[in-house]
Amino acid sequence: MPIMPNTQQQANAALNLANFSQLTAQNLKASVLQDLAAGNALLDTLAKSTPTAASTALADITQLELVDNALERSWGLLSHLNSVMSSDDIREAHHAVLPELSAYGTRQGQHEQLFARYQQVQENAEFFSALSVARQRSISLAIRSFKLSGVALPADKKARFADINSELSSLSAKFSDNVLDATQAYKRILTEAELAGITETGLNMLAAAGEAYQKDQPDEDVSAHKVNGTLYVATLDIPVYLAIMTHAQNRKLREEIYQAYCTRASAHAASDAKEFDNAANMVNILKLRQEKAALLEFKHYADVSLATKMAESPQKVFDFLNDLAKRAKAPAQKDLAQLTQEAAEHGIAEIQPWDTAFLSEKVKNKHYNLSQEALRPYFQLPKVLAGLFDIVQKLYGIRISQKKADLWHEDVQFYEVYEHDKLIGGFYFDLYARTGKRGGAWMNGFQSKLQLTHADDTLNQLPVAFMVCNFTPPTKTDTGNKPALLTHDEVITLFHEFGHGLHHLLTKVTVSGVAGVNGVEWDAVELPSQFMEFWAWEAAGIALISQHIDTGEALPQSMLDAMLAARHFQSGMMALRQLEFALFDLTLHTHTQITGEQDIQNILDKVRAEVALIIPPAYNRFQNGFSHIFAGGYAAGYYSYKWAELLASDAFDRFEAEGIFNTSTGADFKAHILEMGGSKPAAENFAAFRKREPQLAALLRHSGWESAA
Ligand code: ZN
Repeated sequence: MPIMPNTQQQANAALNLANFSQLTAQNLKASVLQDLAAGNALLDTLAKSTPTAASTALADITQLELVDNALERSWGLLSHLNSVMSSDDIREAHHAVLPELSAYGTRQGQHEQLFARYQQVQENAEFFSALSVARQRSISLAIRSFKLSGVALPADKKARFADINSELSSLSAKFSDNVLDATQAYKRILTEAELAGITETGLNMLAAAGEAYQKDQPDEDVSAHKVNGTLYVATLDIPVYLAIMTHAQNRKLREEIYQAYCTRASAHAASDAKEFDNAANMVNILKLRQEKAALLEFKHYADVSLATKMAESPQKVFDFLNDLAKRAKAPAQKDLAQLTQEAAEHGIAEIQPWDTAFLSEKVKNKHYNLSQEALRPYFQLPKVLAGLFDIVQKLYGIRISQKKADLWHEDVQFYEVYEHDKLIGGFYFDLYARTGKRGGAWMNGFQSKLQLTHADDTLNQLPVAFMVCNFTPPTKTDTGNKPALLTHDEVITLFHEFGHGLHHLLTKVTVSGVAGVNGVEWDAVELPSQFMEFWAWEAAGIALISQHIDTGEALPQSMLDAMLAARHFQSGMMALRQLEFALFDLTLHTHTQITGEQDIQNILDKVRAEVALIIPPAYNRFQNGFSHIFAGGYAAGYYSYKWAELLASDAFDRFEAEGIFNTSTGADFKAHILEMGGSKPAAENFAAFRKREPQLAALLRHSGWESAA
């Protein structure tokens, strides 16, 4: 098996890179199954005994960590290739191992004798206090996670807990199925007059939807509806929806599509889609979450959610969100005034929710005349990367150097990271869009920095990360390749993912569960990534990453000014919207008595009355499609977006005061945030870096609200 190197021979820390050219769906699947079998065999053994000493208990835990590391690696390779090089074989192998993998995870979480071993280590005060800070934290986090998975409950409650979890997972799946089905159930043929204003890209999407419509309804005679031979159909798919809401001049059409969109999965939906109503699902999900919280002896589900987060209590988050909402109000009112002024020119007396995107676009074109396309020639990828590496070298004293490696695709590049000429990690860049590759951008901490010893087995591995984006590939020409040219938005994406990557790669922690991004609280994990984005907004940073592809000239001051001016466009309105969602989410999960759909509506209405500038019409059922909190992992956690933004802003504020390339400030950020991983609570790490608790001022300034009250 070419996948897992022989760890016993690794005296020095090593990258243990995989030989991608030798990986096949078959050997990857076999590897995962073999590692799963090893894990299950060890769990069998552990179930048969309870060790007598804390040191033996810890040895068992370490042994399991070694086995799990092998599994993480084989599974990590398979799931990575499934995301970036999908084929029928890979997908089949991926889907085939999923159920066993999930069963293994559940088994570990419910393994009483394993839990007992962790407790044994923690309860032996003398033994525990002699362990490293990182090891202590990893034990404490594991115990907390065992408790939250119900392992410590008495038998009858444990059975109910398992039932709740399984009901919750099917209700969540049902919730998102309904949103998807309701979205797909809606189709509306457009007339020629309704097409006015829609861009060419938009029209192409509507025409494609028209073709699909005719394929689905071959018997329907649509010839009378065609416009110059083409059938245009509106759907509720997000790109189509946005194309209409942003550009369609026909206000009645915008209203109709808005109404269809915001009543999805509700009793108010367009008549044929009522079967997908999520009302009862929401109520049941909230009731079950409350019951789960009570079983775990928490007051409400928000307390369960926050038990693993940086924010200390729901009250702290409420204070933060309410304060920010108050401060966003004045800038948002200014944003609205800007739209109101524009509205007059379009004969709109009172702005409605279906007007905002349309008016924003008009104002943007008028006042911020800078297209992302015009910036592309200045952001050629090789220059952006050289500048990015230069920036992190200045900040953290690390050197990045491209190396040959066995890769999964010719577009991929591999790099090694050096600190004082010592190899500390490696990463792969897979930056271009192609077929068979999932959309979006992400960092995957594929291999963690670890140093584990059990009996004769020693693992000493360096961290390795996958960083994936979907940029437009380089253009092939007769004289060679013309490099990929990025928009500034794409540059920001690259910096963001690289921030996650540094968090994973620069860690000094070598203990499973708390090395790199592992064990970092959900609401703090976006700190290094959002923080890194600031350098792509600073003139000195931009100077390092930009140069015109043909002329070699620097980005002109006028374009830089225009870029910076557009940065805060409508930021007040956007922030209020996010705060409305976050406050709704948190309020909902601090309520202990949700008995019907109307309770949910009342909470949302109350939040809107306090926060929103434009109150949506009574038919709006936004909540019925709020998958983040009903089907995703964001329940009582939607606030995390803003919370992490606050941390990143406040961290960058110190660089602004001391110099954005100040090496000692950089060294401090590296030592207190990037190197720490999850070995200490994020609040402690932040306080060590800023010498105080997080403050709001920088976030307000970076949002462009300085003049606000
Ligand atoms: Zn991120």
